[in-house]
Amino acid sequence: MNIFVIMKRTFDTEEKIAVNDEQIEEEGAEFIINPYDEYAVEEAINLREEHGGEVTVVTVGEEESEKQLRNALAMGADKAVLINTEDDLEDGDQFTTVKILEAFFEEKEVGIILAGNVAIDEASGQVGPRLAERLDIPYVTTITSINVDGKTVQIERDVEGDVEKVETYLPLLVTCQQGLNEPRYPSLPGIMKAKKKPLEELELDDLDLEEDDVEAKTKTVDIFLPPEKEAGKVLEGEVDDQVTELVALLRNEAKVL
Ligand SMILES: Cc1cc2nc3c(=O)[nH]c(=O)nc-3n(C[C@H](O)[C@H](O)[C@H](O)COP(=O)(O)OP(=O)(O)OC[C@H]3O[C@@H](n4cnc5c(N)ncnc54)[C@H](O)[C@@H]3O)c2cc1C
Repeated sequence: MNIFVIMKRTFDTEEKIAVNDEQIEEEGAEFIINPYDEYAVEEAINLREEHGGEVTVVTVGEEESEKQLRNALAMGADKAVLINTEDDLEDGDQFTTVKILEAFFEEKEVGIILAGNVAIDEASGQVGPRLAERLDIPYVTTITSINVDGKTVQIERDVEGDVEKVETYLPLLVTCQQGLNEPRYPSLPGIMKAKKKPLEELELDDLDLEEDDVEAKTKTVDIFLPPEKEAGKVLEGEVDDQVTELVALLRNEAKVL
């Protein structure tokens, strides 16, 4: 089975993020594989172990994305593809990314494509479903379990804490949710092997695309951090006094009474 993972290089939101000139400051930021895409890579490897085939990880990005692709190869993926837009495009949006991925997959024989549920940086959750629509294949989002039996696929998906069971068929696109698996850490031999695994680099030209074909349909006009939270108030003294003060604060300051 041809198993593909579409994955995104994102900055680590656990680290401090600086916004400068209405853009996220890339200098000094830590970059990682989008965490939901790690579930996708892990599940792709599990599917290959069960059903055979090959795992290819694909990123639309820049030269720096090679590091995250190599990490996925170190986890156990077989091949990587970097669609490098650095020289061709300055801006892009979900339309851009999906149009490029659609052109990449057009000539491919797809068994299954695994994506993350959402990218933790821009978080639109659009790329997976939009790509499946363009490829005219079924898709199931936020999956927490998958079982492939021939062409039939049984899936459990997370629906706000409930579980929904879905039956569908290959070829298929799924987006992966926390709880699907525990992504492995790359082992030392895995890291060594990854250096020799194939990493193909493509540009728009190779996909018969012109800049105009993928021109963004939306523009981010502003990005800003939320206002800093004011320090909380700690009431002290006798309980009766605290209650009186609390009621006064709720009435006069919070104006909720
Ligand atoms: C040339 C170019 C320039 C860009 N410039 C900017 C910019 O200046 N400012 C800006 O804010 N954003 C920029 N972007 C990023 C773009 O706006 C979105 O981040 C991107 O389309 C994905 O949307 P999302 O983050 O909401 O992903 P979601 O839809 O939330 O991601 C869901 C899943 O889709 C897959 N996926 C998402 N992105 C990719 C990818 N790139 N490659 C492979 N799989 C992917 C992953 O599996 C991911 O888990 C640019 C993109 C391109 C292609």
